[in-house]
Amino acid sequence: MWKSLKDLDVSQKTVLVRVDFNVPLDDQGRVTNVKRIRETLPTLRYLHEQGARTLLLTHLGRPNGEVVSDLTTDRLVKPLSELFAQEGIEATVDSVGALSGEEVQARITQLPEGGFLLLENARFDAREKKNDPSLAQEWAQLADVYVNDGFAVSHRDHASVTGIAKLLPSAVGFSFETEVKTLTAAITSPRRPLHVVMGGVKMETRIPMIENFLENVGAEMILLGGAMANTFFVAQGHAVGMSLYEQEYVSTASTLLERYADRLVLPVDVVVADAIESDQTEVVSVDAIPSSKMVLDIGPQTLQTFAGVLSGAGTIIWNGPMGVFERDPFLAGTKGVAEVLAGASADTIIGGGDTAAAVERVTLTDKMTFVSTGGGASLALFEGKPLPGIEALDEV
Ligand code: ADP
Ligand code: MG
Repeated sequence: MWKSLKDLDVSQKTVLVRVDFNVPLDDQGRVTNVKRIRETLPTLRYLHEQGARTLLLTHLGRPNGEVVSDLTTDRLVKPLSELFAQEGIEATVDSVGALSGEEVQARITQLPEGGFLLLENARFDAREKKNDPSLAQEWAQLADVYVNDGFAVSHRDHASVTGIAKLLPSAVGFSFETEVKTLTAAITSPRRPLHVVMGGVKMETRIPMIENFLENVGAEMILLGGAMANTFFVAQGHAVGMSLYEQEYVSTASTLLERYADRLVLPVDVVVADAIESDQTEVVSVDAIPSSKMVLDIGPQTLQTFAGVLSGAGTIIWNGPMGVFERDPFLAGTKGVAEVLAGASADTIIGGGDTAAAVERVTLTDKMTFVSTGGGASLALFEGKPLPGIEALDEV
């Protein structure tokens, strides 16, 4: 087990905290949603109260190892300061347009106790993603201890996630700890029965998830929707017209269907249209998908079946939207599932970036037991994969 922030002596120390402040920006480069910043406030408040000098390290966007002026971290100073003000945290926040070196050293010596300094975008340096030890060294020289409060990057073997953790006394921050404990408990000691709703697009991560849930976690039922279900339709022998599906996974889907016939639930009807942009929709049975159309949502009868199965659940884990929820004509299936979960007495756990966005879109986030900020990291955990960002931390 990793060390928790409270197990680490941070009082008056210089603490480097890896956060995930990879927030959405508008076309002027202004921050449009501060959820990811807000998540870290318990950790930042604690460090402030301990009189630590805190260096904040994040990536922002995809600068690909180069300095991109629209992705500098100075734009994060204002939203963070505003959140501090709202929460009554009276701390100074500043940014230094560099990642390491003398300029940063000088600024650290000027930093008051309990103050915060944002380092530059970690991905401006190509060595970050390569986990180059020289970069981790430069960061380790700046601080006494390392804290990781960026669960959403914990599946990455990057210098700011794993490299530096091995060089300094290290611990997890509070939001990271909550994420891992909640998601781990959902798959190791869930209230039974545990049912999983799965949709979205990528078979590459979903197949290992299905296998892990059925074989190791012992989930009772898996309900499949989204584009992912199309590959299963092909495996069932249905024509899918112009729908998105993945030919290379058809045989795996067949094997799963044979082996777990009584634990996999597939849609019986779907919403089809000519194109994602279309508003002309039609509900058809899965054995009558027109050759010129594509499947873009689950149908009403399927939703009813899903609701019936889920009504007996102790725990429901949901990853992957049921359709192209970004467009109103194809939102009903995803919205319907969200409403079923919102009204259920079961523990409801949401993983996946787009699934969280979908739940947010139908304003039901508050009705769920837990919505992970983890994106790919939560999926890796559901796949049963070890997370490099956890493995690199000191153990108690
Ligand atoms: P998450 O980020 O929650 O893990 P994914 O990224 O795998 O989920 O999938 C989300 C995307 O899947 C959404 O953008 C949605 O539009 C798309 N999607 C869902 N169903 C379909 C479908 N039938 N056809 C095409 N795209 C779909
Ligand atoms: Mg996604």
